[in-house]
Amino acid sequence: MDLFLSTRCPQCGADISFEEESTVVYCNYCGSALHITGRSGVLRTYVAPRKDVQRMKKAIRDGMKQANAKAAVVNEKKLFFAPYWRIKGMVFRWIFGSNVQGETIKDLKTKHLDHTFPAYDGINLGLRSLGIRPGALKLLFFDRSEMTKMGSIIKVVRTFKEAVKHGESMTGVGLDETGIQVHLGRTRLIGERYSIIYFPFWMIKLSIGKESRVLILDAVANRVTRILTQEQWEEMVVKATKQPARVSFSKVSFISFKCPNCGWELPLNRFDIIHVCSTCQRAWMERGGDFKPVPFEAAAPPKGLNQDVVYLPFWVFQAEISSNGQTLKTAADLYRFSLMFPTRPINSTDRRAIRFYVPAAAIRNISAANKLATRVTQNQPAFSRMPREELLDCKFMGVFLPPKAASSMADILLCSITPRNNRNRQDFVKQADLSISKMHLLWWPFYEQRLFIRDALCGCGIQKGAMSVNVWK
Ligand SMILES: [Zn+2]
Ligand SMILES: [Zn+2]
Repeated sequence: MDLFLSTRCPQCGADISFEEESTVVYCNYCGSALHITGRSGVLRTYVAPRKDVQRMKKAIRDGMKQANAKAAVVNEKKLFFAPYWRIKGMVFRWIFGSNVQGETIKDLKTKHLDHTFPAYDGINLGLRSLGIRPGALKLLFFDRSEMTKMGSIIKVVRTFKEAVKHGESMTGVGLDETGIQVHLGRTRLIGERYSIIYFPFWMIKLSIGKESRVLILDAVANRVTRILTQEQWEEMVVKATKQPARVSFSKVSFISFKCPNCGWELPLNRFDIIHVCSTCQRAWMERGGDFKPVPFEAAAPPKGLNQDVVYLPFWVFQAEISSNGQTLKTAADLYRFSLMFPTRPINSTDRRAIRFYVPAAAIRNISAANKLATRVTQNQPAFSRMPREELLDCKFMGVFLPPKAASSMADILLCSITPRNNRNRQDFVKQADLSISKMHLLWWPFYEQRLFIRDALCGCGIQKGAMSVNVWK
């Protein structure tokens, strides 16, 4: 689910809202483009309570009925914000095996992980609105003074480590295979992001004669989610006063979305993390509140290519794969391993180190992105670098995928190039230790071919429709 974040434009004060994954926001009122900074830590947001007195009254009446306390008196009513960890990412699972008919199986499954769980300690308050009505929910950046005007903030006691563990435990859910005998399975959570959402609820204390009950009322849906005894609530209060977990939260602010070198506006692709100035061709990434230059290289298209070229970014890194005393180090080793070019004579350029190629542009279709990565990596292309002075004429796409996500793709990519019908190779991968180094950005030339864009050096294609942005505009 994609939630929307809402804030005030720092330039003109208008209310602006944008997809939570945005890195760049554009204000329709004053026309300024701004880059969100400080995203590196754990982002904190909150949902504002929605006051609907009629529904609240009805919910309380229903709650009283449920608690068998029609004659109860409300003697305390207080708003709280309960913190929830939210984990988002992409799960990849490779399976090699055989089915009941004895056919060999090589299958890649993917799923979006989007999971929330309480970051407070104690009883589950059942604030389910978080999962049920995402479209209607607006998130606001955490603001202690605004929030404490409305209610009390419950502390985060579940640590970041616990959130990571929890995320990992959720990766396998929904990806299990039936009727397959698995020889080799690999599951990885990629591009995972952790955040905290504070969700509002009303604590409503009822007295029924000498007894009391506590209604937990979801302050967005205006629904009673739990009825607690006085003791249960007191236990919650005690747990809430425990030492909070130390989490490095992000400090969000905005900077102007302009090239620090030449002052021109950068291309407005809302989800990119590295932006290339189309005027001076420098690449920028925000770190600690400023744009920092990102070194990169570009591969020269083949001589004589008579077509317009667009450059797509790839994260490229060297890889060494060791298993059972054997190590794959060179392009030639990789060709032998993948059985891709069995009759191809080894030439001098094949002694280069193995390079893995992970597309870094925004690609909507995950399996298309993996295919492109696989095909370019299998090819281990030799290429020459674009001379500096020629970079000025190139059209570079921005970078969407963070480098950390690219490096966690390495294991998945290794499985992708492992042959389906070769148990030896699969056993090799099972024990493999992958060490990667020299991660860098490389822009790679593509040209247009009907519904595809095709890589100009080894001919690997990807459908235009698989891309999140229109490359050929
Ligand atoms: Zn504005
Ligand atoms: Zn510039």
